[in-house]
Amino acid sequence: MKRYLMYINGQFVPARGAKWFPVYDPSTEEILAEVPDAGPEDVDAAVAAARDAFEKGAWSKMTAQDRGRILFRMAEKLRSQAAALAKLETRNCGKPIAESEYDIADAATCFEYYGGLATKVMGQVNPVPANALCLSMREPVGVAGQIIPWNYPLLMAAWKLAPALAAGCCCVLKPAEQTPLTALEFARWFEEVGLPPGTVNLVTGFGETAGAPLAVHPQVNKVAFTGSVEVGRKIARAAADSLKRVTLELGGKSPNIFFADADFETAIDGALFGVFINQGEVCSAGSRILVERKIYTKFTEAMSAKAKTIRLGSPLERETKMGPLVSKEQYERVTSYLEIGKREAKLCAGGGRPSGFGKGFYVEPTVFCDVDNRARVAREEIFGPVAAVIPFENESEAIRIANDTHYGLAAAVWSRDIFKAFRVVKAMRAGIVWVNTMQPTYVEAPWGGYKQSGYGRELGPWGIEEYLETKQVFVNLDEAPIGWY
Ligand code: ADP
Ligand code: MG
Repeated sequence: MKRYLMYINGQFVPARGAKWFPVYDPSTEEILAEVPDAGPEDVDAAVAAARDAFEKGAWSKMTAQDRGRILFRMAEKLRSQAAALAKLETRNCGKPIAESEYDIADAATCFEYYGGLATKVMGQVNPVPANALCLSMREPVGVAGQIIPWNYPLLMAAWKLAPALAAGCCCVLKPAEQTPLTALEFARWFEEVGLPPGTVNLVTGFGETAGAPLAVHPQVNKVAFTGSVEVGRKIARAAADSLKRVTLELGGKSPNIFFADADFETAIDGALFGVFINQGEVCSAGSRILVERKIYTKFTEAMSAKAKTIRLGSPLERETKMGPLVSKEQYERVTSYLEIGKREAKLCAGGGRPSGFGKGFYVEPTVFCDVDNRARVAREEIFGPVAAVIPFENESEAIRIANDTHYGLAAAVWSRDIFKAFRVVKAMRAGIVWVNTMQPTYVEAPWGGYKQSGYGRELGPWGIEEYLETKQVFVNLDEAPIGWY
């Protein structure tokens, strides 16, 4: 069995406590590898390395052109290693191989985007009413602590590292304990592509023992987190003492709204794709499916029938459309919601473990119909292949139900009537709203939530902003005496 080391200050190292923990293949439940079980002392070492690198400036004071070139090389490395990385990603998190391939390509695109953006970070001249040159300059925020989830392991690492590096920050990244392998493989190329030691550090470990010390660390200037609301709150509290900058991308219970005038077949596919992609382990999953009463029965029948045809299997097989959930813990969490749902609503498809699977954390794509928006399966993020279908009578009721949630990450609306579709778009309290589609996500566009789905925006120019400070520089050009003393 393979033992990985983590990456601190340009070296592959074990945890100082010499402890290890296993990571699994969720389709076989077998141990895939062991990784270092980092504790606070390892986090200290990683933060010290990042701090030192930042202060010495090998990265932060490198020209933006050179930093951009190195980001391009990171992208090239991902592309040249894509097949192996995708396979490892799939084995570690259970997503279908085609989805992993897509994710690795997307991660490369993210490094390319921010490689290009590195040279477009610009200051301004401010038109103050004085004989002066008043400038605003952009500078890296410093050391970034980055904590990511297990649903898109390498892609989430890219979303965090690429904008931070483009800004000139040094990073300590903690992958999710379930899925650290692809990031560790990627680190094997960091020296070769030209990242100076300490620029990117990877600490593998659990939330309480490795994540929490990173979030609270006084030498970390900014913490970026993607994960659950519950942990997001802890991060915000941990960051408060040192007043570090925080961005949080948390969960969702996103509405996917279908009006009767939507194209029916596309709508059914959009509903299924919106909620079941990546086994439903998606923060923007369209897990509340709102359907206009006029088409409700036909819709729920067609959707349920098609859900039953989704092919589950080994995620390494190309025909597989849905793999296992990531872990035993997640399997138990999702199956407990299946029992809750059966008490609260009408089960129309799935509802348990698929037959013929002796091993692996497989759950059937599940459709609950006639769900009340107050039901737990309509309010709580399940993070698995579970759809709650809710009928509505008219546009205003659809809007009311859609916004009746503590979350506000995403929403989608399906209609051929552009007036109606845009009225709904404007009414949605959500950070991303799709029209006649759901889930396409591009690095050029902002990503993040309203309400308890977090704060800050990733991707695009918004993403790099979160890693930049603004310095005002006031240059006096007036040789007259100063002030009134
Ligand atoms: P899930 O429960 O689905 O795994 P989490 O929000 O718990 O989602 O985990 C997302 C990331 O947050 C993981 O990298 C995890 O290790 C980390 N994490 C969990 N608890 C904490 C914590 N108290 N402080 C910092 N990070 C944490
Ligand atoms: Mg957790």
